[in-house]
Amino acid sequence: MTMVKVKGGIEILRLPVNEKEHVFPPWHMKYTESHILHSKCSKTGQEDNGCLDNENACQFCTYSRELEMILPDMVFPNNVLRLKHKNGAFLEFKAFDALKRVASGKINIELACAESWRETRQDNQEYLKESIPPFDWTYTTEYMGTASGFKVENTDERIDFEKLKRKDKILFYVDLTLFEDELHDNGIASMKVKMRVMPGTFYILLRYFLRIDNVMLRVNETRIYHDLRKSYLLREFTSREAKVQQLKHIHPAIFTLENEIAPLLPLVRSYYHKLIIDELEQSPSNVVIPASSSSDASSTEVQSQESASPSESTKA
Ligand SMILES: [Zn+2]
Repeated sequence: MTMVKVKGGIEILRLPVNEKEHVFPPWHMKYTESHILHSKCSKTGQEDNGCLDNENACQFCTYSRELEMILPDMVFPNNVLRLKHKNGAFLEFKAFDALKRVASGKINIELACAESWRETRQDNQEYLKESIPPFDWTYTTEYMGTASGFKVENTDERIDFEKLKRKDKILFYVDLTLFEDELHDNGIASMKVKMRVMPGTFYILLRYFLRIDNVMLRVNETRIYHDLRKSYLLREFTSREAKVQQLKHIHPAIFTLENEIAPLLPLVRSYYHKLIIDELEQSPSNVVIPASSSSDASSTEVQSQESASPSESTKA
């Protein structure tokens, strides 16, 4: 439960955080879910004059200062999925880290598309604000989750999707939106994470979805699969995209259905990784998994040490 004092301390805003956790030894899984990011400083109540103290800044000030961009319409800073292994390795999925990987500087889109975009956004002057350095307004991110404590290797092993299609009992399920933007009614850019735990396995799908109406579609997906009998997780990243003119064979109604359109888009890039869990020194002492919420102080961002470099990956 987060308490925020609004201007003057008169009003104390209670921000309910939905929270659920499960322990599937050796994993501890937890998610939190709450409201969208405020559109102004929750301490001063102002958009431009925010918290003075960076250390204790509110979420709005932290996001606006550290991410040099106009934030998506909806950012869910408290929608976080966290998985922690008893050996200390953890995986986390959160909006801040996803947005940190949005390119700054130039727009990562072909000129033809940018031209079409420009035609449709004449009234969107905020993108031309000089105070905001250029950034990729599609919020394209190759965020694969925040990982720590794993050894990352390229692999030829693939996720067994046939196995996933089996109707195994679902013990834990979560579906969180990390951010979403409607591109000023020109489409959508969103990032969501879903996870399900079955007896002996778990599966995560993290998806960035972009649709610029009449221009293009792009889907970046990270899939993580783990068989609890194994000492590693499989992580597959795919980036797919197409211009709308390449998709004449597909009914445009399908463009709005993420699950349907994603596999129909041509593959641009893919990486296949093994996330190996470090073995602890064999010791007879019990390793205790924290039963209650693990301290959020440890949630400092640790991007996965991508020793498996994307350049070695396959290109289709
Ligand atoms: Zn603030």
